Amino acid sequence: MQRKEFQLGDIVEMKKPHPCGTNAWKVIRMGMDIRIKCTGCGHSVLLPRTRFESRMKKVLVAAAENGSD
Ligand SMILES: [Zn+2]
Repeated sequence: MQRKEFQLGDIVEMKKPHPCGTNAWKVIRMGMDIRIKCTGCGHSVLLPRTRFESRMKKVLVAAAENGSD
């Protein structure tokens, strides 16, 4: 089973897009639960880590590549 790599600030794609039509979510909180925010409408969702990992498709933009430093 492949472990998914992600970190705070990453923009991720989920298996199902948000009803607003956007499928790019920013990871805004890491812990036992993961909070992601829809980059389209700003709606945020809290998911248990296991559920987040099963629903996440891939990292679109890694925070490390995104940062200015
Ligand atoms: Zn949305």
